[in-house]
Amino acid sequence: MAQMPKLLNENCIEGFLSNFDNVLTDCDGVLWRGDDIIGRSNEALSMLRALGKKIFYITNNSTKTIEDYVKKFESMNFVADKEEIISSAYATAQYLKQQQFSKKVYILGSSGIALELDKVGIAHTDVGPEYQIGDPFAMDEVIKLEPDIGAVVVGFDSYLSFPKIVRAVSYLQQPDCLFIATNTDEWFPRANSDLLIPSAGCMVSCVETVVARPPIVIGKPSKNMFTILSGKHQLQASRTLMIGDRSNTDILFGKNSNLQTMLVLTGVTTMEDLEEYASSTDEEKHKLLPDFYLPRLDDIINLLKDF
Ligand SMILES: [Mg+2]
Repeated sequence: MAQMPKLLNENCIEGFLSNFDNVLTDCDGVLWRGDDIIGRSNEALSMLRALGKKIFYITNNSTKTIEDYVKKFESMNFVADKEEIISSAYATAQYLKQQQFSKKVYILGSSGIALELDKVGIAHTDVGPEYQIGDPFAMDEVIKLEPDIGAVVVGFDSYLSFPKIVRAVSYLQQPDCLFIATNTDEWFPRANSDLLIPSAGCMVSCVETVVARPPIVIGKPSKNMFTILSGKHQLQASRTLMIGDRSNTDILFGKNSNLQTMLVLTGVTTMEDLEEYASSTDEEKHKLLPDFYLPRLDDIINLLKDF
């Protein structure tokens, strides 16, 4: 058993605010769902900014470039500078650059990854559709492996196909070929749809099942993105709050990076999930419990109005 997280309310808001200078917030499920803003989440962040808090946006989504994000933020009236945004595609490129990676990357993913690799001068294969033609056991004629591939980067790929999996796992037969996952999210939070849309974790599992070795995960819950961001902006972990909607990525990332954490209930993780984690005897589940929770991010607007 563990304690349930505290609801952020008028009794604890003052102490809460005094404990952090930096806010890292997830996007999908916290600020917006797909292309729909969640209430007045933009105003909520502006109020925190007006109180002197630095805001950073941290997303596991690897399909867009930082410039795409700037446009999306502007279209929904968020204040966002490109220095304040970190995505798993950007972080993957930075990670490879820090490793002084000099070979070529095979991408099982989308153009967000390709464009971020371009920015750091790392060669990569093309992205886009590649469909199977003919007999899967006669693919040697169709698929020619490139000799200089030194890493396979797997992210969300809506063109996931059999030949792409064949290429990825064939390159990874070489023990020194890096296996990198931008993120391992299971599905995308969406409103008003009966369809469940798989996320990058689905593509990563396809490859991992075959190669039987775990990927280096760049996105949350791994602390790589905090290491990159804190190095760039000199952020102190103990003075940083992470806000997210998904416990097994956002909150665990916060815990892994020694940040304070707050969950909002507008995305993936529900109140019932929190109760399950708290009542579990498994200590790993307790790591999924945030310090605070709020039903929606814009509930903070009322709490901040007297500050
Ligand atoms: Mg999210």
